[in-house]
Amino acid sequence: MAHRTIIRPVAFSLVSARHASARILRSFSTVIDGPVHSTVRPSPPSPSSSVFQDAIQAVSPRTNWTREEISEVYNTPLMELTYASATVHRRFHSPEAIQMCTLMNIKTGGCSEDCSYCAQSSRYDTGLKASKMVNVQSVLEAARIAKENGSSRFCMGAAWRDMRGRKTNLRNIKEMVIGVRNLGMEACVTLGMIDAEQAKELKAAGLTAYNHNVDTSREHYPSVITTRTYDERLATIKNVSEAGIHVCTGGILGLGEKPEDHVGLIHTVATLPAHPESFPVNALVPIKGTPLGDSQAIKFDAILRTIATARLVLPTTIIRLAAGRHTMREEKQIMCFQAGANAVFTGEKMLTTACNGWDEDKEMFDRWGLRPMESHETIQGQQETAKSTDGSVMVEAKTHERASSSMQ
Ligand code: SF4
Repeated sequence: MAHRTIIRPVAFSLVSARHASARILRSFSTVIDGPVHSTVRPSPPSPSSSVFQDAIQAVSPRTNWTREEISEVYNTPLMELTYASATVHRRFHSPEAIQMCTLMNIKTGGCSEDCSYCAQSSRYDTGLKASKMVNVQSVLEAARIAKENGSSRFCMGAAWRDMRGRKTNLRNIKEMVIGVRNLGMEACVTLGMIDAEQAKELKAAGLTAYNHNVDTSREHYPSVITTRTYDERLATIKNVSEAGIHVCTGGILGLGEKPEDHVGLIHTVATLPAHPESFPVNALVPIKGTPLGDSQAIKFDAILRTIATARLVLPTTIIRLAAGRHTMREEKQIMCFQAGANAVFTGEKMLTTACNGWDEDKEMFDRWGLRPMESHETIQGQQETAKSTDGSVMVEAKTHERASSSMQ
């Protein structure tokens, strides 16, 4: 039932009296062990620091984050950090709602790029057989099955550098988008770089979201990919955003980066003109034959810290626990959900890597009191926000009855 709900910030010892009176209408709107990922620090910042407190008290997203500020949040002791991120998560999202997305590869392998983690690059001998784009009907059948199993978003990925000269492919993809939307699902694609006109065409077809990850920090990026620049990635994100399509952009942890690169990754997306609708956090699934094929798994605390920091810095964004989730025990997944992750990929496969299945996820959801996020909750979450004079934010949305009552 659509209604307006007044939510007061959750009682939290660090929340100031000024913010305690803030009024909010709430909205739902691939990884290395070792010293470089150690999160033990000699002098962690105090959880009472003003930057940390401001992040906890946030009632709206801000795009003027400095890297130092994000670093301060990231380096907060992990127990404090996750408690704070859980608090902020409950202010902006329904904590029991997890968006279920199914990702299908619509064109496999043979990609000209040299992304050093990717099984689909033609530069590496990974044993993957390249294939042509699948037909529209098979995609729509897969989407129908995904919907029957509870997925509200269907994502389609193609292993391409860009969409130049792919008119026929684009026409077919638009048919796929239209068909998925007609099933009542959100449609997302990831097709490599696109220009402004292609973005407009996809928007006209009804595309909900476009995924284009920045992968890592600007500094670490050249160590991972050399065939296209960080700025080219940002140009595609700009084209997508300006076309009115929701932006899905995030990164991969475990690419041999340092903790500062997790900060740099979050800083990149936090300082876009508008925060992305979705921020995927991938844990590297090492693929034999790729340059990163022998990498060790990243430590869980680094994944959790990245999720918690992203939740505090990107309060309205959906945080997607993406590749690598199938390697996590259930308890670890739950810690990620508590810290602010609220989307997963579920189904038979996620591009070329393994994926948690629908039945497995349903059982986990039942055990922990989670539920699939409904499509309107994310679409509604993109509605206008209006800043009131006392600094509070009013967001109009359809809210889930149970969540709203638990927050008042
Ligand atoms: S552009 Fe995409 S498909 Fe191509 S190598 Fe990079 S990650 Fe893989």
